[in-house]
Amino acid sequence: MNKVVLITGASRGIGAASAIKLATLGYKVAINYKENSQAANQVKAHILNMGGQAATFKADVSDENAVVRLFEEVATELGALSHLVNNVGILKSQMRVEQMTAKRINSVLMHNVTPYFICAREAIKHFKAHHDTKRCAIVNVSSAASKLGSANEYVDYAASKGAIDSFTTGLSLELAPSGIRVNCVRPGCIYTDIHRDGGEPDRVDRLASLLPLGRGGTPEEVANAIAWLLSEEASYVTGSFIELAGGK
Ligand code: NAP
Repeated sequence: MNKVVLITGASRGIGAASAIKLATLGYKVAINYKENSQAANQVKAHILNMGGQAATFKADVSDENAVVRLFEEVATELGALSHLVNNVGILKSQMRVEQMTAKRINSVLMHNVTPYFICAREAIKHFKAHHDTKRCAIVNVSSAASKLGSANEYVDYAASKGAIDSFTTGLSLELAPSGIRVNCVRPGCIYTDIHRDGGEPDRVDRLASLLPLGRGGTPEEVANAIAWLLSEEASYVTGSFIELAGGK
């Protein structure tokens, strides 16, 4: 099978680590990003230097038309899509629920929930048109926050990840008859730029000693789980969740 994977938000953090990991496993990798073309090109160069295949695709996944174009461009440039990693997620500055505006909450949902549905919809079309669907798979990136709730930090973000957990369960059941597997990872405190967006760049270091394993996680540790869930080694796994939260 010609394995072509699209990873949304793959210029940095968990998405970038997943792009590199999947390239080492022989996937052609579509690196989606929103603005940071320099970071996306660095991920691509890394993969090409390893002898892998990759291309970058600028698209805002909160824009439905842009998502449809993105999937068409990936098919044209790399071939028919066989795997998807729904990875884009944002968080806003830390605050309590009583301070949150509808504008902020809607923005979080528009970035963290709707794109997972729309990207899955487009992926399924491509899987069904071009592949033995039993070999196709989707991984959604949720968060340990979906169960912990992120009180006093960003309950809106946590709730958006709760939606991704439900989405994973529902979509996995819808697609099980076709053999398309849908699974999810729930990272905890991982060293990436996302904490800077929440207003606390050193958040992982603050919390590390409170975690059962006593440290934060790396994007590569999350990427390893994503790669396994996409692989044939996980052929009987669907609707499942892997916790990557250091024991929390
Ligand atoms: P990150 O380091 O902040 O990277 C975000 C990536 O998403 C970048 O590649 C960015 O592109 C891209 N992006 C943002 N908005 C986009 C949009 N509208 N359209 C397309 N691309 C967009 O994030 P991360 O920490 O790796 O997080 C990845 C996933 O893991 C998210 O779903 C997050 O919620 C989840 N997660 C992270 C942690 C953690 O501790 N880091 C914990 C639990 C769950 P540009 O470079 O162009 O900006």
